[in-house]
Amino acid sequence: MNPDLAAALSGLVADPDRVLTNPQVVERLSRDFYWYSPILRKQLDGKSADLVVQVMSVDEVRDCLRYCFANGVPVTARGSGTGNYGQAVPLHGGVVLDLSRFDAIEAIGSDGVAICQPGVRLAALETAAGNLGWELRCYPSTVVKASLGGFLAGGSGGIGSVTHGGLRDFGTVQAIELITMEDEPRLVKHEGDAVHEILHAWGTNGIITRIWFRLAPKVRWAQCAVAFDSFDTAYTFSERIAVSNEWMKRLVTTFEWPIPGFFSPIRSLVREGKALIFFMVALDQLDQLQDAAKLAGGEITHAGAFEGFRATPLLSDFTWNHTTLWAIRTDGAYTYLQCGFDPVGARTQFARLKERFGDEILFHIEFMKRGDGVVIPGAIPVVRFTTETKLNEMVDFCRQIGVSVANPHVNNVEGGGRYREDNVQLLAKQRYDSRGLLNPGKMATFSPAFASTKNL
Ligand code: FAD
Repeated sequence: MNPDLAAALSGLVADPDRVLTNPQVVERLSRDFYWYSPILRKQLDGKSADLVVQVMSVDEVRDCLRYCFANGVPVTARGSGTGNYGQAVPLHGGVVLDLSRFDAIEAIGSDGVAICQPGVRLAALETAAGNLGWELRCYPSTVVKASLGGFLAGGSGGIGSVTHGGLRDFGTVQAIELITMEDEPRLVKHEGDAVHEILHAWGTNGIITRIWFRLAPKVRWAQCAVAFDSFDTAYTFSERIAVSNEWMKRLVTTFEWPIPGFFSPIRSLVREGKALIFFMVALDQLDQLQDAAKLAGGEITHAGAFEGFRATPLLSDFTWNHTTLWAIRTDGAYTYLQCGFDPVGARTQFARLKERFGDEILFHIEFMKRGDGVVIPGAIPVVRFTTETKLNEMVDFCRQIGVSVANPHVNNVEGGGRYREDNVQLLAKQRYDSRGLLNPGKMATFSPAFASTKNL
């Protein structure tokens, strides 16, 4: 710990107790879920900030950045630390700027746009929106803990994406205000297409301080689990529901056996040896869905109204990247990939992957709408890790057969997918953080204008 840094920053926040220097606390707040990847685990274990500052206002963010710029101190933003690529792990020490207490919902307008501070938990926003007849268009399966700022800077989509697309689609993020890392930090606003300069930049090109987030009209949802004898029949049925506009849905997730066997808290929903689908559909379509599933040969293992995030079972707790968590809990040798299959050729792609890798890859499909309106079989397959070479072979093979991969075993913005080919995130970094002090090391194509910083 650097006592001068702690003393200086204590004078910049209203309560000096919000500068955290206890080594265990600093270490904990310097970590995220990078350990999902055996490769990142090796790279990032032991990395830690010097201290953590909990900021609660624009002025506090600005004052901290001004000081850190002047003194060449790296700053890594943190929402709730649920990212799973080491996005919020400081590679070069310095300050972790904890935004989790900068978390007010400032307004939810009659136009369905929420104006929020960055640390607001997504579940809190969903609840507040629900009271006014709105809901989140999409949210990660970490909704209860994850912050809105962290979702924008590090996430991609989730529950809801089958209808509303990912975070970057359909204008879901209307505008972002952020503070730059300069001698005199500026508050700048990005609206419309300009939000893409900041989205998924891992906090490397500004600290997000306010978000205008478009919501969707609230729907009364139901959850439904259906078991099928084979992955093929399950996939066929889930695809039919996912792509059809007749169904109002929030979640369509399909698991190949043995993945459902990993879901220990909900064993009663699982049938030995069978594939499983989890749906969230409009409550008034639940009966119709059950009839259709039975006709297609499925067995309904759960059906009921969705009672919110405290519901038991909460099916979304087993979907998106939570599936990987249950797999790792069952067997530490499992890890994962993030893939996009071809909506027409997916079955051939599945077959080719099975032929080549057998049970080293287990299919977990998350249907999601692309920005062009086509619903595609996105996927977070569970992968048995043996060696880095073998994992990279699988990534290469996927790409050869037309399966896109956002590689979750890479600790930089460019390598992990979602980096824009027009380099707008990099161009914004050059404008807003020319010294490269924001989350340094995470934007691989960036080189600082001058690197006379203390810790770099
Ligand atoms: P953090 O992890 O704290 O931060 C993420 C990134 O954003 C970091 O680079 C950080 O520096 C930056 N950041 C945070 N706040 C700011 C700010 N105010 N300004 C600038 N930069 C900032 N992701 C999905 O998209 N969909 C999923 O379904 C999903 N499921 C998951 C399931 C599990 C079990 C786990 C472990 C992760 C999952 N994730 C998923 C990843 C992650 O949970 C989400 O992206 C989440 O929204 C991140 O929010 P956070 O507040 O935890 O961000």
